Amino acid sequence: MALVVHKYGGTSMGSVERIQNVAKRVAKWVKAGHQVVVVPSAMSGETNRLLGLAKDINPDAGDMSPRELDAIASTGEQVSVGLLSIALQAIGQDAVSYAGWQVPIKTNSAFTKARIESIDDKRIRADLEAGRVVIITGFQGVDVNNNITTLGRGGSDTSAVAVAAAIKADECLIYTDVDGVYTTDPRVEPNARRLDKVTFEEMLEMASLGSKILQIRSVEFAGKYRVKTRVLSSLTPHDLDINVEAHSGTLITFEEDETMEQAIISGIAFSRDEAKITLMQVPDTPGVAFKILGPIAKANIDVDMIIQNQSTNGTTDFSFTVGRGELKKAMEVLETEVKPAVGAQQVIGDANVCKVSAVGIGMRSHVGVASLMFETLAKSGVNIQMISTSEIKISVVIDDKYLELAVRELHKVFDLEQEAQVESV
Ligand code: ADP
Ligand code: ASP
Ligand code: MG
Repeated sequence: MALVVHKYGGTSMGSVERIQNVAKRVAKWVKAGHQVVVVPSAMSGETNRLLGLAKDINPDAGDMSPRELDAIASTGEQVSVGLLSIALQAIGQDAVSYAGWQVPIKTNSAFTKARIESIDDKRIRADLEAGRVVIITGFQGVDVNNNITTLGRGGSDTSAVAVAAAIKADECLIYTDVDGVYTTDPRVEPNARRLDKVTFEEMLEMASLGSKILQIRSVEFAGKYRVKTRVLSSLTPHDLDINVEAHSGTLITFEEDETMEQAIISGIAFSRDEAKITLMQVPDTPGVAFKILGPIAKANIDVDMIIQNQSTNGTTDFSFTVGRGELKKAMEVLETEVKPAVGAQQVIGDANVCKVSAVGIGMRSHVGVASLMFETLAKSGVNIQMISTSEIKISVVIDDKYLELAVRELHKVFDLEQEAQVESV
């Protein structure tokens, strides 16, 4: 008997029929002798719909109280847990649903991007011992003042892995609408290949660089608490042999497999959620980076890549990237506070950029990855605007009209495509 956490995403919970399928799948695991905690997302499109209603009332996202946005957005998951519980009960499986505050899943008070601080496992354990399936809302928690909080978009992954860590589950199974982690998003590159295993470090980079298959914090939790985590399909028949299902998909591993020859590059990640800001002709004096980025940090805006050019005539151009949704706010801070203080000529914001990255631990022991990447982009006529590297990734910022082209060409040049199928004659 194992203790497992199942997470089902929006598509997997997308209709009454799909919820009934989830219930049948979960019941199969219980029948096979396992204890199951389920963490579902809101039905697909529901979180967008709910936040859209708020936007209809106040179109200026910056003006809306994040506390109220969380109160609204969290309701999608609350409906899901209730429906799934009813679906399980309807097929004779005892089940109980909980909202985050009922567990409780305690978070800090950073509304819309709260972090989980603790999870009480008492109620969960008691229900499991009583033979119930425990269904806990993804995406939400409660802060020290009993306010409802949410964990940021895609946050149900994090709820699931955190619950798995708290109850010391044997495995966390992330059921989604693809059958595992691919070499890149299969929606952009249909020749992408599923990975049987991916190292924790690579998964962390891929998630942080924009692969939305897993929210980055879920991967951080998996690493910190060594949660065995697997990504697999919820769209297989619910009565698929449980032994086949339990070994399907992609397993996140913590050790490098010494016996396998490691591919140099494991995947191509990309993010459309990027914007570039350039301050033209900033006087090149000590402290200028601080004078620019200090007020940006104070406004709670995350900065990713930063480039400062060689100075000519005592001035330099200074560029950095922020999330696209924060461009407007960043531009306001720069125009009103920073530009007059540092004496920049002009501030230019560009929302038409994206970031494409090659990720692989094999990069540590191989040279020439960067040059092959740059050569490939050059041959495709893609201009590189910014570059950043770490030990296991190279990222470039490019015009977003080239995103698909860049992803496909890099996927090809790093040999990530599926094995060619032999055509029958
Ligand atoms: P869920 O609602 O189950 O949480 P998401 O939409 O958040 O599902 O994540 C699954 C999607 O992630 C897939 O449909 C796929 O388009 C996308 N995706 C992005 N990068 C990858 C990747 N490297 N491998 C697999 N899927 C990816
Ligand atoms: N429902 C939330 C979202 O759409 C959380 C999730 O699905 O993981 O972002
Ligand atoms: Mg998701």
